[in-house]
Amino acid sequence: MSNHNLAPRHTTDPALVSIARFLPSTRAEGPGERTAVWVQGCAIRCPGCFNPHMWTFRGGEQLATDALVTRILDSGTTGLTLLGGEPFDQAAALSRVTRAVRRAGRSVMTFTGYTEAQLRRAIEAGREDVAALLGETDLLVAGPFLRDRIDTVRPWVGSTNQEFVVLSDRFPHLLDHLQRTPDRVEISVDASGQIAVNGWAELELLDELLAPVGRPLRNR
Ligand code: SF4
Repeated sequence: MSNHNLAPRHTTDPALVSIARFLPSTRAEGPGERTAVWVQGCAIRCPGCFNPHMWTFRGGEQLATDALVTRILDSGTTGLTLLGGEPFDQAAALSRVTRAVRRAGRSVMTFTGYTEAQLRRAIEAGREDVAALLGETDLLVAGPFLRDRIDTVRPWVGSTNQEFVVLSDRFPHLLDHLQRTPDRVEISVDASGQIAVNGWAELELLDELLAPVGRPLRNR
């Protein structure tokens, strides 16, 4: 059950964004080939969250919004996916980033642990930063992760309560195709031998996949 009164935190500096991870290109975090940015800091703290190291608002990499935009556009993908951490806890800064990304013709998909109703209530209460980020999002995936409601059918989401909210005409047939879109897991090994996993898979499956090479060092 989500808290009716829960609302996003205010960004401390709208020209600075704090990120936990930057992935230039992936096909496991939304439609098509996308750049994925995990932001640092989340006030929601869902039990069973896969990224508790992204809860604290300290740490991560702090960078100017313009610098993040340059990195995203230089990746040459068709869109940006924001994950977390919690993007709406940095709504003012991320609305600047997403505005620039969309002006460059790329799409924006935003994962949030807030429900759409909580975001709309915050907007009604005067949160222009929340309105701005929502207004620059083409596809919202909304709602907290509930570990007793794991979703094994739809792609990209963690639990069955999480809603896909289409906010523009950028993905016109997405909702019709969701049941036929397979979930993906990407496993990559960098030059130093570090293994990274992104996408969604049950832990048992990951253990089986990674048994020959060892445990993942990063995942979503
Ligand atoms: S909203 Fe996302 S990052 Fe925050 S606690 Fe929930 S699952 Fe973790």
